[in-house]
Amino acid sequence: MTETAPSKATMEKIVSLCQRRGFIFPSSEIYGGLSSCWDYGPLGVELKRNIKEAWWQALVRERDDIVGLDASIMMHPKTWEASGHIKGFADPLVECKSCHLRWRADELKDTRCPSCGGELTEPRMFNLMFKTFMGPVEEEASTIYLRPETAQGIFVNFENVLNTTRKRLPFGIAQMGKAFRNEITTGNFIFRSREFEQMELEFFIKPGTDDEWFNYWVEERLNWYTKLGIRRENLRLHKHAKEELAHYALSCTDIDYQFPMGWAELEGIANRGDFDLVQHSTFSGKNLNYFDEESKQHIVPHIIEPSGGVDRAALAFLCDAYDEDIAEGEPRVLLHLHPTLAPIKVAILPLSRKEKPAELAKKIYADLRQCWTATYDDAQSIGRRYRRQDEIGTPFCVTIDFQSLEDEQVTIRDRDSLKQIRVPISELKNTLAAKLSGEALFVLPPGGKIWKE
Ligand code: ATP
Repeated sequence: MTETAPSKATMEKIVSLCQRRGFIFPSSEIYGGLSSCWDYGPLGVELKRNIKEAWWQALVRERDDIVGLDASIMMHPKTWEASGHIKGFADPLVECKSCHLRWRADELKDTRCPSCGGELTEPRMFNLMFKTFMGPVEEEASTIYLRPETAQGIFVNFENVLNTTRKRLPFGIAQMGKAFRNEITTGNFIFRSREFEQMELEFFIKPGTDDEWFNYWVEERLNWYTKLGIRRENLRLHKHAKEELAHYALSCTDIDYQFPMGWAELEGIANRGDFDLVQHSTFSGKNLNYFDEESKQHIVPHIIEPSGGVDRAALAFLCDAYDEDIAEGEPRVLLHLHPTLAPIKVAILPLSRKEKPAELAKKIYADLRQCWTATYDDAQSIGRRYRRQDEIGTPFCVTIDFQSLEDEQVTIRDRDSLKQIRVPISELKNTLAAKLSGEALFVLPPGGKIWKE
């Protein structure tokens, strides 16, 4: 991690907003929290679901060449022998002889303890997988692991998917879900935690077409982040040098994001070659290969893997969206979240709590929430209510006033520009649908007018 981000987001501000507004809390907070585990609150869970939905939509629902999977977290222990995790998934650690803190040997710049300056032990290997026991007896034979990545669930189902879907190369299997790593260096909020979620695609290709598909997926994944609002200048590609590559990878390019603490990996795209299918064939005794009609030969497909973290993506989207400005003469904090990701799409704000306008506002609320996540807020001044919605990234507020009772029109206020239009209630749903899909605010429906420029 180098250089600091020029954006207004600092990690302190993001953490504070997330706790204050109910995006993310420390896990088991009433007991003092559990180190590097986090709970997503009412708004955080919506944001996270929206990220996952957007990924699933782009990779599975909109494509003919990718299918989905949801494999179990606990897998046969042989999986991890085959994958190399039991042998290779370890970091060399050193321990301080005086304060007993442990450090990753490959990350230390000094030969002394960074905390107290004490003498360090020789490096020792430490496996990052969480172990547990399956069944009633706690013995070596019943040891299983919590998966440290979702990818292996895909490789072991390669044959099942091939046989049941009749997909031909190139095709992919996508999966998202929880992964667990007993990380040594955690921190930076949800950037690196011990329980997290991954979104992984394993794309099976004919050997020899590796470069073409590798470049394709780097580009696709980069575009996915920018389409959802991340500024291109806050993303960069980092191609791994030979000595940086993981044991299974022929090549790897990371998509880095400029987080408040510096540039760091958001997603990795790796060419895993035939490593995984060959390993699982060897360890399971099953032939995990593919009959190529063209060459009339059995081949072992190569795999291109874009592998991203949901939590890291959430952090990047929050940091990129964070802003502070002056609105209507008052300082405000706002999140310019893309409408697809915003936890709440529309807030319904009656200007009065009196019976008639409140009744109309509630009717509109009941109608809109059939289509989108919506909220109803009638507490405090309208300015305060706008600020509350801006801070959580709600793209549009609909205000209902006394005039609405007569002219059957309401105003729509845009979070980013603060501009407002007035539209007939009968056109409200269609108008919001168009605006949420990116239509400019001042494109008006029949009977609509500009209210506040
Ligand atoms: P790092 O070096 O930053 O720990 P990694 O290279 O070990 O990451 P991969 O094994 O390539 O990560 O995992 C793919 C993706 O999963 C990462 O790009 C990241 O978004 C996410 N990820 C991995 N480890 C964690 C973690 N401990 N907490 C949150 N997300 C993680």
